[in-house]
Amino acid sequence: MTASPQVLVVGAGPVGLTVAHELARRGMRVRIVEALAAPATTSRAIATHPRTLEVYDAMGVVGEILKRGRRVGAFTMFHRGRRLVRLDADYRTMPTRYPYTVIIEQVQTEAVLREALAGQGVKVEFGVRLEALEQDGRGVRARLTHENGTAEQVDVPWLVGCDGGHSTVRKQLGLKLAGESSETWMLADAVVDCDVTPDSLYWIHSGAHAMMMVPLPGAGRWRLLDTGDVLPGADSTSVAAHYSAKLSAGLGRPVRVAEPEWVSVFTFQQRAVSTMQVGRCLVAGDAAHVHSPASGQGMNTGLHEAFNLAWKLSSVIHGDADATLLNTYSSERVPIGAALLGSTQRATFLVQLKNSLAGVALPVVFAVVRNVRPIRLRMQRSILGAMSGLRLSYPDSPLTVANRGRAGSGPAPGERVTSATVDLCGPGGPALAAALRDGRWTLLVGEGAPDAADAAARYERVVSVRVLSAREPDSDGMVLTDPTGGVAKALGLVSGGWALVRPDGYLAARGERFAIEQLDTVLAHLLGRDATTAVTTDT
Ligand SMILES: Cc1cc2nc3c(=O)[nH]c(=O)nc-3n(C[C@H](O)[C@H](O)[C@H](O)COP(=O)(O)OP(=O)(O)OC[C@H]3O[C@@H](n4cnc5c(N)ncnc54)[C@H](O)[C@@H]3O)c2cc1C
Repeated sequence: MTASPQVLVVGAGPVGLTVAHELARRGMRVRIVEALAAPATTSRAIATHPRTLEVYDAMGVVGEILKRGRRVGAFTMFHRGRRLVRLDADYRTMPTRYPYTVIIEQVQTEAVLREALAGQGVKVEFGVRLEALEQDGRGVRARLTHENGTAEQVDVPWLVGCDGGHSTVRKQLGLKLAGESSETWMLADAVVDCDVTPDSLYWIHSGAHAMMMVPLPGAGRWRLLDTGDVLPGADSTSVAAHYSAKLSAGLGRPVRVAEPEWVSVFTFQQRAVSTMQVGRCLVAGDAAHVHSPASGQGMNTGLHEAFNLAWKLSSVIHGDADATLLNTYSSERVPIGAALLGSTQRATFLVQLKNSLAGVALPVVFAVVRNVRPIRLRMQRSILGAMSGLRLSYPDSPLTVANRGRAGSGPAPGERVTSATVDLCGPGGPALAAALRDGRWTLLVGEGAPDAADAAARYERVVSVRVLSAREPDSDGMVLTDPTGGVAKALGLVSGGWALVRPDGYLAARGERFAIEQLDTVLAHLLGRDATTAVTTDT
């Protein structure tokens, strides 16, 4: 790298790779360092949920993720050999183009993100560890050690710590992980001979403890999780025999587990920081919160954070926004991290179900769930709603402008724009998805808005202006072809109406009659400065 970096990203796990990709995509000079000498070869995270798939879509990597993963759309529960219930995914109240969870090993996710990052011209520097940092109002000085023992001092305007649960950045910033409780579980990735279908996640109670089975990509491969017996130090033959016996009891059919390719006994805690920014340093992902893997949220949440942070940081560095925009990173994401501790704690409780009365109550409760459709649907939606990330919104954010008029249906400011209640898988849906890959703010206007071309010219650096129309794309690239008017209807965009979408896909503001003065006012408020004249700076 010739010119000095504008951002140093510490840690090349999924979160660091996403931050670096999203910064580089917006033209930032990024350096990303990773303490490991080579990419990790074992996978912790495997479940990738719908909102994360939408984020991958906006990043341009969703195709590769889908290709390497396996889709699952159900949650099936067994108790002492009897099937209690199968809950099929039902996203009707949470529209998305990706109504399923993709099981993809973290090793593969990281490989896809690394390749995409390399496509932006940034290579991960393996074998480089951040040892210490100090900062003042102008920048950050980081002390790095290379694998061969060489020390390096680097000065950067901004630093993002994505260095995982034992984060050096977090410790150097004096941020405390507050919280409690820890549990120890055992996982094994193995080929399993068993006649359950690999289109579902399985929760299995053997009578003594609860286990999970998750189908991995590849024939017959499963992730097995025991929340009770953890067999520290056991050899792989014993682990295979242990799971074979316990799963046979839980599923009520013969199960033969081959010697696992990977066994891990791990202890997790439920803790989070109270702020994600100290001066010119920010933290994201496990560096900011650690919790139970019960509902597969850690990596998903970290990726959403990375996506939230990168556009804000690049806007500030580009000089398009005041530095106060970055305050909204912490104010939007800390409450989500805190809420997550509560929800993953509940999920942990349910997944391990240690209560001794459970054995008696479960068959009764699930007979009701199985047979009473409204209860089953409610349960399906509540499990999915919590896991999918689709219900997440920012109604109270300073970046959410009170509703300026909402004709009919359509998302409200603060909501994901793709949460439109009409099916966005229709003819205009792909065009909208493509528009949301732009990286800038997106102004969607109904046909007939008089000032759309002026807005496009005035805010070219910051805003992509798209006119929803039945017409074919035009030469200036403003027409977003919506052949049936389905997208406009889904978004509640009347003729001349407008909706301003943040670079991370959340609606910031909307109105019924577009005029450029409104956009001036709204953007000045959102960006904290007049965005018609950007000052490009390195700071
Ligand atoms: C068993 C298990 C199953 C899980 N399943 C799921 C799941 O299904 N879905 C899900 O969303 N989440 C899951 N998680 C959680 C998920 O693995 C983590 O949340 C995710 O890895 C966090 O990503 P990250 O990039 O923040 O941190 P990490 O993946 O921990 O990456 C941090 C990187 O920083 C590097 N690093 C550390 N210190 C330094 C330093 N000083 N200098 C330079 N580099 C450094 C590390 O080597 C590492 O590569 C699971 C966790 C466990 C334990």
